Amino acid sequence: AAGRKNAAACSRSALFFVFLHRFGMPAGPCAAEPCAGRFALRARPGVPDTGFSNDKALLPIMKVYKFGGASVRNADGVRNLRKIIDDEQNLFIIVSAMGKTTNALEKVFEGLQKGDKQLSLEHVESLRKYHAEIIDELWHEPKRLPAVDALFGELEKVATETVYKPGDAELWYDTIVAYGELVSTTIISEYLNYAGVSNRWIDMRRCFLTEQRHKDAGVNIEASASLLKNALGKCVENIFIGQGFIGGAPDGTTTTLGREGSDYSAAVVANILDAESMSVWKDVDGVMNADPKAFPDAVQIAELNYLDTIELAYSGAQIIHPKTIKPLQNKNIPLYVRPFGDKRKPGTVIRGMSAPVDVPILILKKDQVLLTIRSRDFSFVLEEKFATIFSLLERFRIKANLIHNSAVNLSLCVDNSWHIDEAIEALREAGFDVMKAENMELLTVRGYTDELWRRYARGPQVFVRQATQSTVRVVRKRE
Ligand code: ASP
Ligand code: MG
Repeated sequence: AAGRKNAAACSRSALFFVFLHRFGMPAGPCAAEPCAGRFALRARPGVPDTGFSNDKALLPIMKVYKFGGASVRNADGVRNLRKIIDDEQNLFIIVSAMGKTTNALEKVFEGLQKGDKQLSLEHVESLRKYHAEIIDELWHEPKRLPAVDALFGELEKVATETVYKPGDAELWYDTIVAYGELVSTTIISEYLNYAGVSNRWIDMRRCFLTEQRHKDAGVNIEASASLLKNALGKCVENIFIGQGFIGGAPDGTTTTLGREGSDYSAAVVANILDAESMSVWKDVDGVMNADPKAFPDAVQIAELNYLDTIELAYSGAQIIHPKTIKPLQNKNIPLYVRPFGDKRKPGTVIRGMSAPVDVPILILKKDQVLLTIRSRDFSFVLEEKFATIFSLLERFRIKANLIHNSAVNLSLCVDNSWHIDEAIEALREAGFDVMKAENMELLTVRGYTDELWRRYARGPQVFVRQATQSTVRVVRKRE
């Protein structure tokens, strides 16, 4: 066991080295200072003190809070975060990039990709300004945070001085978009310290070891456990601020976990720390049975179980990132979805067992494309070709939201994306005819009633309908 721990410590310093090498010193506040104290993990008698332990009895029981971009999009949001955590202790807080920062960073990357430095610089500049205004407002005076300046300096350098090769697109995408979370957590950590909430900034690039895969990496939880616990174990503070959405690959480069991946980050932290609970603070009162913008009679659901939640997330309900539930379910950690605006409201709790949901649930997934695939040699056993089709789609990162097959056709409802036409080309080369119907949406109704069936599952706009006893899913032309 000691050998394993040493190996973990070594690989951690190797990782650290690569970061220094590639990006210079991490710029977060007090990222590398040694510290020891209240939070320190004590070794048991007779056990060599390795600086960390996997024995949860030695860790205080933590809660994990996650704040999304909308919750911290301005100074009021950051102050509100502070109010929410006011009398809390033993907290790990995961924060996303502020507001629409990630979208703007995607533009910075686009500039690099197209060789359009002007485009990159414009967006770096507007992000710099956006964050500077939030900082000034938080400190009630013109204020510079050197750590934030340093991050923007690095970002500008990556965006304008990188020798870009198309084969590295995803590496540079991840490197660039990660700055959103690095900046937001740096500001929030410094602000909380300034406001009297002592806390420690954690560099998740060094605590989450992910797959060697960019843009949609999974976290290697086992390998990350010692990295994260080791980082926390050294600290006097008991409030930690870490970035959602990012991690580090085995080769030391930055990875991201997929858009909206901060929920997943928080769940992995909760899993590793055996947290008492995880809370996602959102700009809604809790999980609703439908999107109130599309279905005005939507109501709130008090309790959900993990399985239903995965189904809902998969069908497109924007409750939570679909990858979030597994790490929580493995440790039976309850997930609270709570309103950012009012801490006293109960929100929705998601856990292993829950009272049955007694209202129908409607989920609308927009911007869908329906692909109908047929083997050109008209073979009737299309099933034999499924493996070819799906591995090809996987290559273009296209996931099927609904699958429907007949003797000669396979219909797939997929998210619209710029890879679709490339995938269609590849399918055609592989001997398939492909039809593409655009402007579709996928509606899932769980616990449908006769009335809902009449309203949504019939009519000429319905292209595909799949029903079980309780759930009907409809691919329909957008109205
Ligand atoms: N900032 C990232 C995004 O906008 C991650 C997240 O918000 O969860 O996709
Ligand atoms: Mg976001």
